[in-house]
Amino acid sequence: MENNKVIVIGGGAAGLFAAISAAENGADVLLLEKNDRCGKKLRITGKGRCNVTNDCTTEEFLQNVPSNPRFLYGALNCLSTQDVKDFFEGEGVPLKTERGKRVFPVSDKAEDIVSALVNACRDRGVKIINEKVLSLIIEDEKIKGVKTHSGERYADAVIICTGGRSYSRTGSDGDGYEFARSAGHTVTPLLPSLVPIVCAGKLCPSLQGLSLKNVSLSIIYKNTQKEVYSDFGEMMFTHFGITGPMVLSASAHIPDISSGRYEARINLKPALDEKTLDARVLSDFSKYANKDLINALDDLLPQKLIPVVISLSGIDERKKVNSITREERKALTDVIRSIRLSLVGFRSLEEAIITKGGVSVKEIDPKTMESKKCKGLYLAGEVIDVDAYTGGFNLQIAFSTGKLAGQSAAWQE
Ligand SMILES: Cc1cc2nc3c(=O)[nH]c(=O)nc-3n(C[C@H](O)[C@H](O)[C@H](O)COP(=O)(O)OP(=O)(O)OC[C@H]3O[C@@H](n4cnc5c(N)ncnc54)[C@H](O)[C@@H]3O)c2cc1C
Repeated sequence: MENNKVIVIGGGAAGLFAAISAAENGADVLLLEKNDRCGKKLRITGKGRCNVTNDCTTEEFLQNVPSNPRFLYGALNCLSTQDVKDFFEGEGVPLKTERGKRVFPVSDKAEDIVSALVNACRDRGVKIINEKVLSLIIEDEKIKGVKTHSGERYADAVIICTGGRSYSRTGSDGDGYEFARSAGHTVTPLLPSLVPIVCAGKLCPSLQGLSLKNVSLSIIYKNTQKEVYSDFGEMMFTHFGITGPMVLSASAHIPDISSGRYEARINLKPALDEKTLDARVLSDFSKYANKDLINALDDLLPQKLIPVVISLSGIDERKKVNSITREERKALTDVIRSIRLSLVGFRSLEEAIITKGGVSVKEIDPKTMESKKCKGLYLAGEVIDVDAYTGGFNLQIAFSTGKLAGQSAAWQE
């Protein structure tokens, strides 16, 4: 019997893994990538360091997938987080595990991950051509191949690995959704996730460029005062609102951000409880007893924040520290412990780390990643309606679904 011919559309995380897996299972594999090289998005992951997976159990993993986690059981069974680690170590990329079980290459170079994947493709005989796929060729609900500028290319199976629609300059600009639609698939609404947040008011623009470390951020649903997210770490103010690792993570926990339903609360001194913070302020006040308040907080807060915090606490910034009352001090520490921002929206899909939504999981067989609408058509990666929080989960989803789709496509009758 002749080997299956498999075409993989897209040379990102899912496509490269799908191609490796299909080739390992005996298929003749052609990978078509529209950029002049593969892995353009992969190269910028984890700020160029590539958080390649998360060293956690499958149960923990699925708790980090807010959309359609159960769909991923089969894929994670096919390629676990440990398997991904073994794969890269086996390809000569040593890995290390950091805070939150996040796994990175020891070299801190995403480029090493891309090279390992591309070399693994070449070693297994995958042919990579830099060509944009224009459409699918489908006859009687069965895939026949794809059309490109250079003509028609035929195959027994085609795997759509075209990614989401964010950071479109990396190549993932949504072609895959159109391919899936042409095969009869439903695409659920495409929304930004892991995305900067727009805030009301002038506070953020006045603090533009200020980065905060070791602060805590809580997101509160105003109606019920329920806390939907809380973390400790880094964030940044911008001309429109807030961004940074904690903010991106927080965005995935906010289902409907419209009309100011949520509020962010920033604790600038989360390590100090109310009493300890008050004692700390008192000690600074005795040190700077004869100064104006505006000149007495340098030891406690970043320069840019001082006038903002004083103004929010309602105290005259020119008031002498030795005449500040206990109530005023309480107002000041209350602000330091909880700067409040009303959230009004997300930035665009283009600025999002991840696209939420995509090809409906109801129309894909979770045991094989084959389309239920078109025989021989498979899907993998972000094009599918699954998304996860930060921590290496999204790349693992791409690798796992890619591997499962690749082997299924190679074996299909
Ligand atoms: C700034 C940033 C940082 C990130 N950091 C991390 C991280 O550290 N850890 C993590 O787990 N996740 C991270 N992610 C998310 C992760 O990069 C994606 O989830 C993952 O790349 C999705 O893989 P994919 O293969 O589905 O899509 P992509 O990696 O986007 O690959 C899709 C490929 O398909 C190609 N393509 C599209 N259309 C066509 C066509 N018509 N013909 C031919 N080729 C086509 C594209 O050019 C592209 O190369 C990050 C994302 C961004 C934007």
